[in-house]
Amino acid sequence: MKFETRSVHVGVDKDPSYNSATTPIYPSSTFRWDDLQTNRGYDYTRSGNPTRRALEENLAALEGGIDCRATSTGMSAIAATMHLFQPGTHIIAGNDIYGGTYRLFDKLFRDMGFDFSFVDMKQPELVKAAITPQTKCIWIETPSNPLLNIVDMAAISSIARAAGLITISDNTFLSPYLQRPFEHGVDIVIHSTTKYLNGHSDVVGGAVITNKKEHAEKIGMIVNALGLACSPFDAWLVLRGVKTLGPRMEAHQKGAMAVAKFLKGHRQVEKVYYPGLTEHPQHELAKKQQYGFGAMVSFELAGGRPQVEKMIPQLKLFQLAESLGGVESLIDYPDTMTHVSMPLEARRAGGITDKTIRLSIGIEHPDDLIADLARGLEA
Ligand SMILES: *Cc1c(COP(=O)(O)O)cnc(C)c1O
Repeated sequence: MKFETRSVHVGVDKDPSYNSATTPIYPSSTFRWDDLQTNRGYDYTRSGNPTRRALEENLAALEGGIDCRATSTGMSAIAATMHLFQPGTHIIAGNDIYGGTYRLFDKLFRDMGFDFSFVDMKQPELVKAAITPQTKCIWIETPSNPLLNIVDMAAISSIARAAGLITISDNTFLSPYLQRPFEHGVDIVIHSTTKYLNGHSDVVGGAVITNKKEHAEKIGMIVNALGLACSPFDAWLVLRGVKTLGPRMEAHQKGAMAVAKFLKGHRQVEKVYYPGLTEHPQHELAKKQQYGFGAMVSFELAGGRPQVEKMIPQLKLFQLAESLGGVESLIDYPDTMTHVSMPLEARRAGGITDKTIRLSIGIEHPDDLIADLARGLEA
């Protein structure tokens, strides 16, 4: 089955009693046994639930993995993967990763005895140079947030394989419709389903997708033992959202390309970050490893923060809010919002300035989005 068909159908058929066309929600925390030896595949909802399982089967099929665990948030998906490793482990990650991931690594897991190197992942040779005898994992996020740097997953995976390391890729920014890390040699894929997979800004959730039996079993055990799984209702919402993933992503990226081109030609805009523009330094790599350029567009606004403060109140469509990937367009100022959990020096080292603005392009008509931004930029 093609991607769009899998989105609509895989895992969905879960009602042998009444043949409902959509997946029923099973909120039950526990399931009756037929006798001392026999249950019907589920015994307790922390460990497994039919509605959640439907979502997990669907997401595994979309990424091309063998298994998935749907978690309560993207952060709990990331925390689950960190439990594959023991204190003393060294992990290499990008210096411009999601702020919450940076905080989890640099604050919580560092205190627990883990060590991290945050490097410029655009340069695979820097990743290779950062490997120590304690390194167990390379953490990939591509495109990066908010500057849309692209990590060459095939190059990083081959470095990792040669050194016996696990690669984990956060695929939140593109969704499996536009990028499938397993095809480039990555071992584990994680998502914040809060973003494009659900797509309607009405649930927080996460997922860990595996393509090796050993990882699938360990992640299943960790998610159950730590109690990280999502609620049946949240699973149902994400399953509902994911059915329209393909058509939504097409609409999102059409708008993003139009907005990026508009910003590029505006005198108030010093720089546009969008991998779909031919002048993006990694445009060719994006074309090679992605099935599209996504819908996150960042730019540098001349005048910095005072100008940003003038622009925001003029906007009627773009809402000043964190998060991304919903049908409605959002505008984010990383320096005080999404990336404030990253220390100032780390932000500047990663290239985030007081001029940086991040847009999540929704599925509104591109003309209306451009008119809204034009009004803001004239301020
Ligand atoms: C939002 C996000 C996360 C965290 O997900 P939550 O659902 O907010 O816990 C992780 N990685 C990326 C790239 C994100 O955008």
